[in-house]
Amino acid sequence: MNIQVSQAIFFLGLLSYLAIRTVYQRKAHASGPSQSDRSTPQDKALILLVIVGQVLLPLVYAFTPWLNFASYPSIPAASYLGSILWVAGIWLFWRSHADLGTNWSVTLEVQHNHQLVKRGVYHFVRHPMYASFLVLGIAQAALLPNVIAGTSAFIAVVVLCIVRVPREEAMLCEVFGQEYRRYMQTTGGVVPTLFGRGVA
Ligand code: SAH
Repeated sequence: MNIQVSQAIFFLGLLSYLAIRTVYQRKAHASGPSQSDRSTPQDKALILLVIVGQVLLPLVYAFTPWLNFASYPSIPAASYLGSILWVAGIWLFWRSHADLGTNWSVTLEVQHNHQLVKRGVYHFVRHPMYASFLVLGIAQAALLPNVIAGTSAFIAVVVLCIVRVPREEAMLCEVFGQEYRRYMQTTGGVVPTLFGRGVA
């Protein structure tokens, strides 16, 4: 697979990713304002970091010569593997949105009539959307042979997970109490549970 094809796959996937997000953002917007917004300036900075890693740096890499110094020859096997992971990541991102429905928000929020979702992909992991970001981050590294534009999304998402997951889980424990604590005991965090308890 040549570099143009792997870049085309990457940007087509990025367009479907942005389309999915736009559809669910509109639905969330139509369902009205949240009951309580727990986001901090740090949350907003993290989202910006993820946008830079997932969208801005790949665009700079593809359309300017500024990141050329960090490029290396593309590896065909990596491009094929990256394409498979890219499709799997987009599918998981879409299913996470579909299962979470109007309970979703970009930052940490509690909706009016917020429902704890444990079905669909949330049956296997508590953070399938963040898991999809990690899969997409690995796919980006495999599809874009550039040290900066390839690794930027994965690094940004690891930072997001480290900072945000404990705060999000504390918030959900406060809102859903024992029900969320029981859910944590039986469901994996970002990696599916193999033997009855979460492993991440
Ligand atoms: N961490 C989840 C969701 C990310 S969206 C994932 O990776 O799939 C963030 C919002 O989703 C938070 O504001 C929180 O209110 C909500 N949320 C997270 N897990 C939830 C669940 N199991 N059920 C309902 N809402 C949830």
